[in-house]
Parts: sequence; C-alpha cells; structure tokens
Amino acid sequence: MASQEDVFKKLVAHCKEYGFVFPSSEIYDGLGAVYDYGQNGVELKNNIKKYWWDSMTLLHGNIVGIDAAIFMHPTVWKASGHVDAFNDPLIDNKDSKKRYRADVLIEELIAKYDDKINKEVEKAAKKFGDSFDAELFKKTNARVLEHQEKREEIHERFKKAMNDNDLDGLKQIILDYDVVCPISGTKNWTDVRQFNLMFSTEMGSTSDGAMKIYLRPETAQGIFVNYLNVQKTGRMKIPFGIAQIGKAFRNEIVARQFIFRMREFEQMEMQFFVRPGDEMKWFSHWKAFRLKWHKALGLGDQMYRYHDHEKLAHYANAATDIEFLMPFGFKEVEGIHSRTDFDLSSHEKFSGKNIKYFDPETNQSYTPYVIETSIGVDRMFLSIMAASYKEEELEGGETRVLLALPPVLAPVKVAILPLLKKDGLPEKATEIMNELKYDFKCVYEEKDTIGKRYRRMDAIGTPFCVTVDHQTIQDNTVTLRYRDTMKQERVNVSDLHKIVGDQVNMKNLFKKIMEE
Ligand code: ATP
Repeated sequence: MASQEDVFKKLVAHCKEYGFVFPSSEIYDGLGAVYDYGQNGVELKNNIKKYWWDSMTLLHGNIVGIDAAIFMHPTVWKASGHVDAFNDPLIDNKDSKKRYRADVLIEELIAKYDDKINKEVEKAAKKFGDSFDAELFKKTNARVLEHQEKREEIHERFKKAMNDNDLDGLKQIILDYDVVCPISGTKNWTDVRQFNLMFSTEMGSTSDGAMKIYLRPETAQGIFVNYLNVQKTGRMKIPFGIAQIGKAFRNEIVARQFIFRMREFEQMEMQFFVRPGDEMKWFSHWKAFRLKWHKALGLGDQMYRYHDHEKLAHYANAATDIEFLMPFGFKEVEGIHSRTDFDLSSHEKFSGKNIKYFDPETNQSYTPYVIETSIGVDRMFLSIMAASYKEEELEGGETRVLLALPPVLAPVKVAILPLLKKDGLPEKATEIMNELKYDFKCVYEEKDTIGKRYRRMDAIGTPFCVTVDHQTIQDNTVTLRYRDTMKQERVNVSDLHKIVGDQVNMKNLFKKIMEE
C-alpha cells in the first residue's frame, strides 16, 4: 500500500495535471507558499464558498454579509493587537540555515511521545488478543508510564513558556530534549525570536507623506469596524451575525504542505454578536452547527474531531478547532472562538467613537460579545480533495483515478458525450446540453474513446456522464453513467434534469443540516 506521503505527493500532482491548483508564477519557478487555482479548482472553490455563504445568509435571517477592503487604517491593527502580538516564535539551525517555528518543533516532539505510546499499545494488543484491556495497560505498563511522564513534563513546560512568552524557555526545551534539525541532524540552534506575520506596504506617493499599512492577516477586523454601520442600516437586533469571504495574508515562517499553509489565502468568517453573558451558549451552538455543516458533505464522520485550545489567543475566552484527517494527520480546518468584547472595546478605545449597542429589550447600552467561526477556503479545498482522491482497482487488472467529490461541490456536474462525431449525434448532444446548462455546469466532449472520456471525468470528479448514441435520435433516451459506481442506465432525456438536480442541489444538504 502506498504511504500517506506518497498519496499526498500524488494528490499535489493530480491537482496540477487536472487544472485544480498550479504553483504561482510557475514559469519563474514559483513563489513560496503562493498558489493559483485553475479551471477546475476555481469552480470547486466557488462551490465551497457558495455552500458556506448560503448556509450563513440563506439559512439564518439574522446573518448578513459584507465585503470589506483588504487595506485598512493602520490603527485597526494596533487596536486588534496584531502589531504587538501576531507573532510566531522562530528558530534557525545554524548548520542547515533552515528556519523553523519553535512551537511546531516542540509540538512534533510531543507527538513523537504519543506515537511511542500508541505503538506500545498496538504491540501489546496484538500479543494479548481479545482479552486485552488498553486502558489498564496504559495505566500499568512501565514503558508506557515512562513515555507518558516525559510527554507530560514537556507539555507542561511548553504550555508555561507559551503563556509567559518565554522565548528562552522554548529554546531550553528544544535543547533539553535533543531536538535536531531534520536536514542537518544537528542541535546547533540560534536563539528563539518573535517574528511578526503581517505583510506591510506603503500607501501614498511622497515618502514623507506615506503611511505604513498592512495587508490584512484576517478578515474579521473588517467586520468589527463595520458592525455598527451594518447594525444601524440593517436594523439588526442582537443576536445577529455578519459574514464575509475574502483574502488574508500572513508571512508564514515555514510554508509547506501545499495549500495547507499559504502566505496568501482566503477566509470565510462569521462574527456573531451576542449579549454579554450569553457567549458560552452561542459558542456551543456554533460549535455544533459548524460540525454539522462539515459532516453533511458525506466525507465520513470519522474524518472530523474537535480540538480545544490550551493557549488562548490574546482575544479569546474559549476556542475550539474543527480538525480534519489530512494525509499528514488531523489538522485544523476551522476555528471557533469566543472573542469576548475584546475587539469592539479596543476599537472604541483607539478610535474614540462610541460603538455600543442599545438593546431595546433591556433598555441598556453595552458592548456585544462575539462568537467567531473562521474557516480557510484553501484548507477546506485541500481536505475535500484529500478525502475524495482514490485509486481503484477494477476488474481485469485496470486501475482508475477517481475524485469522489461531494456532487454539490464538483466543478463539473454533467459531461455530455456523443458516441461518434457524426450521424447527427453532436447536434443532439448539443441540444441536450442547451437544456441543462442553465442550471448545471456541463462540459461537452467528443474527442477520444468513450472509455477515455469517462476516465477523464472520473479524475475531475464529474458525477454524471451522459452518452448520446443512435438510439437517442430514435427514442430520446441516453446512457447515464454514475461516477462512483460506474453503473450505467438508460434514461429519458426529459428525466435528466431531475436526476442530476436531486444529487447536486445544495438545498438538500441545507435541509439535512437544519432538520437534525
Ligand atoms: P494555524 O494554527 O494552522 O496557523 P491559526 O489558528 O493561526 O492556524 P486562525 O487564525 O484561527 O488560524 O485562522 C482561521 C482559519 O484560517 C484556519 O482554521 C485555517 O483554515 C485558515 N488559515 C489560517 N492560516 C492559514 C494559512 N497560512 N494558509 C491557509 N489557511 C490558513
């Protein structure tokens, strides 16, 4: 069986070969951690965004959207805490000259101990068979206890150093536990330094009049500075939410794992404004709702888990990630944060403007508390591609590459394929396409054998292929081929719209989410 690393490499290659994701400026050898979406990628990405946007603004009468500019007044980032605190601790290896995030090196160290423990448990489970009690084994086995103790010791020191912003403390953990650079294999480390992740540029034409501005590292602040504009003009009553999709920029220290960690990426964020004191109730509500939204796509419930934060960001009083099982382990796809009144209070202080909400029900003015749901479009894209990519053995020793995308998200919904390029079949196929194309993204293909055309459609995740043959001219029926099962059936052209619609209409997923 191929290792997970091989699968990931294949997935990256597949994304390029089939027009999903290209390295940015590839003819100049690319630009680190920046990617472009191709003809199929952009459709998938747009479908993900639509699934999110509609689930917020259609399903909730009290959530509206905005689209704020990327450039914002520089004081926004002072107020939000990003100028002072949006840092990652970096460390360089003097021999390999490679740069790492000190916190990630330590997290990986902790994960190694988890692996060791799991291996011991697996080994014992094999040895003892059915009567094996894993919990008891973990509590009593000397080797497991030793690993467990080390793990806890590192974990405690890590937590403390992160919370105290103790950079020397972080370095000391790396030294004490013999963490080596994977490239040079040495422990010749520099000191740990803070590195601010915001990109800056200058606005204005004269050097003395120019103002240092930042490319936004999150879309959330555009919502906070507009919250009162929206509340007043939209006559919104608390609780209400504002949704936004847009680009964000972070000068990530270590950018790897393809589109998992990019320097330019896209976020879908919704800030939900609530009465102070109600925030935990809403935090639980959104945590549950967001997981349902993910699971409704049908990639498998076991692919998701929650991860509660230990170190809370400077603005939060509770935080959870929704993690997805990527080829390189469970990783954060979405964050759900209870941001308190941190942002709004801070903007009030820095701007000197009153941005309190007057609650007509209680006759009181207050600064609302905020629950945020924040998900990266690109990470969501990667998780879907990773879970959908399959290599299948077929009868007769053939293999096929299949992208079993959720049909609602597939870039192309229907491929229309005339069996031959003559006898009026192309004309008939075009006629069928003209009926379907207003509702569903269709492609028309007449090149190559029908088998090759099916394979190409499997590889980009097209759920339906419609083959037009001589019989179609006579009785208006076509062969409908289903992507996942490869089953083929004869259906009437007039039934196509309903069959396809039932599978690809987002409405069905939304109903499922709301009914549960
Ligand atoms: P990480 O710990 O992985 O750096 P984060 O906790 O800093 O992520 P948030 O600030 O909570 O991330 O951002 C919300 C979401 O934005 C993340 O869950 C992720 O999906 C996405 N995101 C954040 N940074 C990146 C990035 N560099 N590339 C792609 N997506 C990102």
